[in-house]
Amino acid sequence: MPTLQMPLNFSATETHCIDQLNRPLHDVRISLTDQCNFSCPHCKPTKQSQSLGKKKQLISFDEILRISKILIDLGVKKIRLTGGEPLLYKNLSFLIKQLKALGIEDLALTTNGYLLSDQAIQLKKSGLDRITVSLNSLDEKIYKKMTGGFGSPQNVLSGITSCEQAGFSSLKINVLVKKGMNESEIIPIVRYFRNTKHIVRFIEYMDVGTENNWSEKDVISSINILRKIHETFPVAPLEQNYRGEVARRYAYKNGKGEIGFISSISQPFCQDCNRLRLSSGGELYTCLFAENAFDLKKHLHKNNAELFKVLQNIWNKREDQYSEMRFCANNKNRNKIEMYRIGG
Ligand code: SAM
Ligand code: SF4
Ligand code: SF4
Repeated sequence: MPTLQMPLNFSATETHCIDQLNRPLHDVRISLTDQCNFSCPHCKPTKQSQSLGKKKQLISFDEILRISKILIDLGVKKIRLTGGEPLLYKNLSFLIKQLKALGIEDLALTTNGYLLSDQAIQLKKSGLDRITVSLNSLDEKIYKKMTGGFGSPQNVLSGITSCEQAGFSSLKINVLVKKGMNESEIIPIVRYFRNTKHIVRFIEYMDVGTENNWSEKDVISSINILRKIHETFPVAPLEQNYRGEVARRYAYKNGKGEIGFISSISQPFCQDCNRLRLSSGGELYTCLFAENAFDLKKHLHKNNAELFKVLQNIWNKREDQYSEMRFCANNKNRNKIEMYRIGG
């Protein structure tokens, strides 16, 4: 029976932008919109939260590019476009082209897949490097329960096929596992994607935000998912691809392909966390579970050299490690930002 591997440590010499826990700034998630065409109970459960988003002042296309350029100068190697649903963002193709023109090494996008069939070719042409698709069930009824009644697994699978045809040879498939909801889908999903180039990643249900009424009782820990898979399809651990990789990886012993586990609850990975998050409202978050944001809009009148310093300073002061201290008493009533506002 394989065990879940432990993360590696960073060296302080890797980048000039290091936080209080010696973690380099490497990765930025940009939430292009907090609007979504789904209403998943684990993420954005209320209609009220949808209308709240519309009233917010958004940062502009040019501001996204300007901030991205400075972040790249600060050492960022990877940008992930997310949301809300990023495929709802109007100038997405042009934004992708412009971000690639800035020289970002790795440009990825996470989507619920609803609009993927229509947009796959355009995304590829624009220069997007990688796509992650969320698919929590192959069963229509369970799927709809987990999206608030929207979409269908068939639609997402068609989107995945369109991506393959467009030239995205290997996608990541995010599967959030929630107790009493989709445990029965673990093996069917593994069976479906085994022997393909797509990598299924099982995600522990997290206490992001407050609207989803998260309870530890609803979490199935990665070790139990791994055990279940291992009984039917034996797997062996793989080395991490790079430092700070969030998923612990496993390969099938018989057959091609790999799977991964993102275990924020049972195996926190704060010690390697190198991610900054930018919301569509122009707020910066140094942690997925942050209570407070840095309002970058207040600094956008500054010149690029000054803005560079502001961003560097924010990262240098960072000391977040929420997942390591999740169950401490003083974290109980934390007023956390919602997932659909800053992306996964
Ligand atoms: N709308 C897109 C999507 O669903 O892929 C992108 C944004 S969504 C917030 C990014 C990822 O966060 C999705 O894979 C989703 O399943 C995951 N997610 C949302 N709420 C979560 C929670 N409470 N715990 C763990 N993952 C969650
Ligand atoms: Fe929308 Fe994605 Fe959140 Fe579901 S998980 S509500 S698709 S942002
Ligand atoms: Fe990073 Fe915060 Fe998650 Fe820890 S809890 S891994 S610091 S986002």
